[in-house]
Amino acid sequence: MKLSEIDRTLREIRVSPVKTLGQNFLHDQNLARWIVEKADLTPEDCVLEIGPGLGALTEFALASGAEVLAIEKDARLAEFLRQRFAGSRLEVVHGDALDYDVRQLFARPRVKFIGNLPYYVASQLLLKFTQYPTPISLWLLMLQKEMALRIAAAPNTAEYGALSLAIQLRYRVEYLRTVPATVFLPQPDVESAFVRLLPRDVAERMPRDAAVFTRIVRRGFSQRRKQLRNLLRDDLPDWEIAAHACGFTPTARAQELTPEQWIALADLVSERSGQSIELASDEVLAVVDEQDRVVGSAPRTEVHANNLLHRAVHVLVFSSGGDLFLQKRSRWKDRCPLLWDSSAAGHLNAGESYDAAATRELREELGVAAELQRVAKFPASEQTGQEFIWLYRATHDGPFKLPSREIEHGEFFPPELVTRWIAARPAEFAPAFVECWNEFGALARS
Ligand code: SAM
Repeated sequence: MKLSEIDRTLREIRVSPVKTLGQNFLHDQNLARWIVEKADLTPEDCVLEIGPGLGALTEFALASGAEVLAIEKDARLAEFLRQRFAGSRLEVVHGDALDYDVRQLFARPRVKFIGNLPYYVASQLLLKFTQYPTPISLWLLMLQKEMALRIAAAPNTAEYGALSLAIQLRYRVEYLRTVPATVFLPQPDVESAFVRLLPRDVAERMPRDAAVFTRIVRRGFSQRRKQLRNLLRDDLPDWEIAAHACGFTPTARAQELTPEQWIALADLVSERSGQSIELASDEVLAVVDEQDRVVGSAPRTEVHANNLLHRAVHVLVFSSGGDLFLQKRSRWKDRCPLLWDSSAAGHLNAGESYDAAATRELREELGVAAELQRVAKFPASEQTGQEFIWLYRATHDGPFKLPSREIEHGEFFPPELVTRWIAARPAEFAPAFVECWNEFGALARS
C-alpha cells in the first residue's frame, strides 16, 4: 500500500495507529516486495506473519502463491485483512502472537517466518519463535536497529552479548540493511533494520549441553568489565588450563570470546561436572530367531552390522491430559540422530525381559518410574531395524530428567498433532516410532 492508500484506509476503517501496539505501517512498496522476495516463496510454503497490520507484506507473500497464517492483535485490523484478502490463501488469527502455540506449525510441511515486528515486544517474540527445536526454517525480521545489531553482533563489539550468543548458537544471522523511519506511517522514533536468520547446519559444533552454555554465557556477561576468570571460577577452578584449551587468554572478558570458544568452554564445564558425551557403549544384546526365541548374544555394533534379529521396547508416555511426550534423539546417536522418537525406547540386554527393559529405559531416559501397560508386539522388519518390539504405554506428567547425551529435547504434543505432523514431515521421525504410532492409533480406533 502506498502512503496515500494507508492514510485513506485508516480513515475508512476508523483506525488511528496505536503506539502501544507498535503500529507503524510500511508504505514503501519496493521495500515490501524486496523483503518478501528474500523468502523465495513457492505455493508449497506456509508463511507465518506476525503483526500483518494492513497487509503491506501479506500482499506480496500471497502473490507468490504461498499460504499465509497471519497473527494480528488488533481486532479491527484482523477483520480488515479478512475482507481485503477474502478468497485468498490467508488465514488471519486474531490474538496475541505471544500466546500462539508454535507446536501447531509442525503439522505444516514448510514454514517461513516474516514479520515487521511491533518493537515493544520484539525481543519476546524473537525468543519465542526461535525457540529450539522449531518447525520454522527461515526468519525475515524487521527490528529496531539496536536490537538487530545486538543479535548480529561479532565479538569485541559493544553490541555483542548474551542475546547475540543465544541466537547465534543455533542460527546464522545476516544484517541485510538499515531501514529509515521515513518508510513507515506514523514514523517510529528509532531507526529499523532488516535481518535474516537461517538455522545452522547440524554438522556444526553445538554445545554438549545447551543449558550449561546458556548459564555460563549469562554469568559471563553479567558483569562485562570483569575478567571471566573471576565470574566462572566455581565452574572451572583450573582456569588457566581451560582458557588455554579453548584458545583465549586467561585474562579475557566475556565479549572477547567467539561463539566457538564459548561452546568449547561450556563443554569443559559439562565434562567437569561428569556430563561428558560417551559414545554408546557396546552393550551385549540378546539375539533371537524369526520366532523371537533367544539364540545367543552379541555386542550391539555386531548386531547392527550383521542385521541380526534382536529385541527392543518402546514406551509412549501420556500426560494425564492425554498429550504424548516425544523425545528428539541426540545428535550424537549413531542411529537416527536428531529424529523424533517414542518417549523412551531401547534394546533388551542379554538375559533381560521386555518388561524389565521397559522399566529400565523409562528410568534411564526420563528419570521416572510409572506403571507400564503392554499395548502391542511388532515382528522384526526393515522398518523396525530388525527388532522385535514390545510397545508399552504409561501415564506421567513429568518433570523428566533427560540425559543430554541421549536426548536433545523432549516435549508433550497433542496426539492429533503428532498424526498430522508425521503426515506432513515423515522424515523427521524415527521409522520404528512411526510403526508404533500407526499401530497405537489403529488399536485405539478398533
Ligand atoms: N506488517 C505491517 C506493516 O509492515 O505495515 C504492520 C507492522 S506494525 C510495525 C506491527 C503490527 O503488529 C501491528 O499491526 C500491530 O497491531 C501488531 N501487533 C502488536 N502487538 C502484537 C502482538 N502481541 N501479537 C500480534 N500482533 C501484534
